Amino acid sequence: MASLTLQNISKRFGDVAALSDVSLQVQDGEFCVLLGPSGCGKSTLLNIVAGLNPQDRGTILLDGQAVDQLSPRERDVAMVFQSYALYPHMTVSQNLGFGLHMRGISRAEIEGKVLETARLLGIERLLDRKPRQLSGGQRQRVAMGRALVRRPRLFLLDEPLSNLDAQLRINVRLELKSLHRQIKTTILYVTHDQVEAMTLGDKVVVLRDGRVHQIGTPDTIYNHPADTFVATFVGSPVMNLFQGRIVREGNAFRFRCPDFLFDLRHITLDMEKRDVEVGIRPEDIEFKESGKTLLHATVEMMSNVGADKYVHARLGKSPVTVRAAKDVSYDTGQRISLAVDPNKLHIFHGGRRIG
Ligand code: ATP
Repeated sequence: MASLTLQNISKRFGDVAALSDVSLQVQDGEFCVLLGPSGCGKSTLLNIVAGLNPQDRGTILLDGQAVDQLSPRERDVAMVFQSYALYPHMTVSQNLGFGLHMRGISRAEIEGKVLETARLLGIERLLDRKPRQLSGGQRQRVAMGRALVRRPRLFLLDEPLSNLDAQLRINVRLELKSLHRQIKTTILYVTHDQVEAMTLGDKVVVLRDGRVHQIGTPDTIYNHPADTFVATFVGSPVMNLFQGRIVREGNAFRFRCPDFLFDLRHITLDMEKRDVEVGIRPEDIEFKESGKTLLHATVEMMSNVGADKYVHARLGKSPVTVRAAKDVSYDTGQRISLAVDPNKLHIFHGGRRIG
């Protein structure tokens, strides 16, 4: 196992800046997730770390040693792709042992390691099968096993669950998390799925257009998003964002936008009269019948996700989504009163978090 350090990695493909100045520290044994929309540079970064593609600028260090000049094999990293890329004519056992065989390891040692890995992944009973005789989830486990069997210094996983159906994804995700707990290996994992990133990662790196927007624990990313991109990319349904201005009324600061007004806290004098965007997560808005600063909205529709319902409404012209209990029901056009806790607001100026 090794720690991984990326220092100012940049990469261009012609006119496209695929990566700009990406720096990152992954501790030994840490599960680090690269999260971002399609085309943000996640796979490019993984390929660069693997040594499959050279960076234009910057340095990669494993355990503090630069590995830029080393071949993929010399770096001793293992990569698992979205397409399992198993050898179709080989059995599971042969697929698992192939990499060790190529490294000249003895047959007896290979057998031992293959069995140990198969046990870890719960696929001992499948060792004599060919890939075509396996389900998608089982193939994915074999692909993981092939990487795991030789205990590399670093695992690179590129959207490894995206070929699985929704239920299987959830199961394999949990298995992967518990596997990481057991083997405590260093993992760099690419996904565009925010739920996957939040459930798997010790650390999440949010990328867009080749740039790092935020690095933090899932809690930090969700509760203190650094900018409006992170705020709206992470969280489902997305955070409500309202554009307006901070105004001062007596001793109080308020957020004023064309459709409503509410109190703000933790505001300093220099923020007065600033144009800001205020973000409120759907679960941080309450339904309230009475109180001081209620907001009045009109219901447009409800969506039901089983455990919760979401009310999609309008505050004047601004759309707003509010989480509701599963037994709540409103009609289209119904007026509702809402309250927000000023401590749960996210305030952004020029797209960046303030306050
Ligand atoms: P996805 O989630 O869709 O796989 P990604 O975040 O992994 O996307 P990359 O594949 O790393 O994104 O691509 C980053 C950018 O670099 C994209 O604009 C892509 O079109 C471009 N790109 C990647 N590889 C090449 C290449 N070999 N030649 C030219 N452009 C490339």
